Amino acid sequence: MNRVQLRIALTLTLLPAIFVPVRLSAQAQRSPVAPRREQVETVVRQAYERFKNDTSGKNADYIPYLAQVDSKLFGVALVSTDNQVFTLGDVGYAFSIQSISKVFTLALAMEELGPDQVFQRIGAEPTGRAFNSVSAVVDMPTHTGNALVNAGAIATTSLISGKDADEKWSKILAFYSKVAGEKLTLIEDVYKSEAATNTGNKALSMLLAKYERIYADPFESVDIYTKQCSVGVNATQLARMGATLANNGVNPATGEHVIKPEDIPHILATMTMAGLYDSSGGWAWHVGLPAKSGVGGGIVAVAPGKGAIAVFAPRLDEAGNSVKAQKVIEYVANGLDYNLYSPTSVGLK
Ligand code: GLN
Repeated sequence: MNRVQLRIALTLTLLPAIFVPVRLSAQAQRSPVAPRREQVETVVRQAYERFKNDTSGKNADYIPYLAQVDSKLFGVALVSTDNQVFTLGDVGYAFSIQSISKVFTLALAMEELGPDQVFQRIGAEPTGRAFNSVSAVVDMPTHTGNALVNAGAIATTSLISGKDADEKWSKILAFYSKVAGEKLTLIEDVYKSEAATNTGNKALSMLLAKYERIYADPFESVDIYTKQCSVGVNATQLARMGATLANNGVNPATGEHVIKPEDIPHILATMTMAGLYDSSGGWAWHVGLPAKSGVGGGIVAVAPGKGAIAVFAPRLDEAGNSVKAQKVIEYVANGLDYNLYSPTSVGLK
């Protein structure tokens, strides 16, 4: 069997979709306005079928490893706050988390320093520019912008304490693993590929140093940041990370309190303003959910109190956001009335 045949065989065995109702953990909550399980199943399946043959966009290629990831990979996972798991397609494939990592390093920085310190040292203003913009660092009064663009994210990573780079990195990886409810690991080849080509991020870190807006050694911080971007996740793990945000910081699978409830609104607000970079405004307009994308092809969107949906599909648009993931999430969010700004989604008639 060649690879294509294997993929077809795997896809056929994966369909119909896997729906795993799991025993509710003590902390799992069911929102009174959460959609019913059958509804979720129908809408997610419709979205999957509708967009599975979409070939618009192209893989990121500024990180050589990402250019050769199979562009046809496509996985959709939804995890509810009461830990129901619904998956379709290539949900076992581990892709690099990339910029989605920034959300969780922001969460860890707030765990360590509290939201006020983080707000002061990083900020939360959208840049309206590309995620790796140099001019934004020069022009923004905070220079860092927010924790979800490269400059602000590298500065956020620099806030994480530890006696050396290894200790900081281990702490970050252990934290992500708790949020995912499973042990996550570094994809060595992604790290090597990005570390060999990340001159732009090094330049951003030096520029931050000029403005005194980076809080540890600049190149050490870029290196740890590059590792955090190279963490492998599959769509199900990513959806569970999102569901932990949706569930007030409690991982719905393990019941562990991972993020302080008071930090959640700050994280979701930042995701709303900057989660899809310079197309975050359009995303809020059309979808109305805090979300975060990565150039690895993943996007996770959070429906507070209800759950999270993660989609993996490597082809990106100009802003660096997965095209298919955006379409699927928009379809599902509309179909399940997830939009935060819709009166009915919060129980108003
Ligand atoms: N590691 C990538 C970078 O620094 C992350 C960017 C992204 O996912 N948008 O360029």
